[in-house]
Amino acid sequence: MTALPRGLRICEDCREVRGRTIDDKLSVCLCQGVRCNWCGMTRRRPISDYYDPASASWVNVPWFGLQAHRCPAPEEWRVGEHYTTLPKDESFQAYSSAITRMTLLSMGFEHGDES
Ligand SMILES: [Zn+2]
Ligand SMILES: [Zn+2]
Repeated sequence: MTALPRGLRICEDCREVRGRTIDDKLSVCLCQGVRCNWCGMTRRRPISDYYDPASASWVNVPWFGLQAHRCPAPEEWRVGEHYTTLPKDESFQAYSSAITRMTLLSMGFEHGDES
């Protein structure tokens, strides 16, 4: 395997690449993804980026990324909320709230806390 870009590392929990590069790209690992409550599988967070070490390239997860999930859960498990959004870590929190703040400011609003 080739070396990861500076600032990135393999997550000790999910073994995916996480961290922020020196040119401010954020690689979001599975720990900050979305969990399917029906089958327990974790998917990547829609509208996030991650670094793929196998192809040494960046991949963008589209907003409709979750639709690709073919849930293997049997019918009787399919009750309640389908997905739980896993908590973001601080770097992702800062990254997305900076974007939210910029958007709100550009529309003339004060920054409201994003949850
Ligand atoms: Zn992880
Ligand atoms: Zn599922």
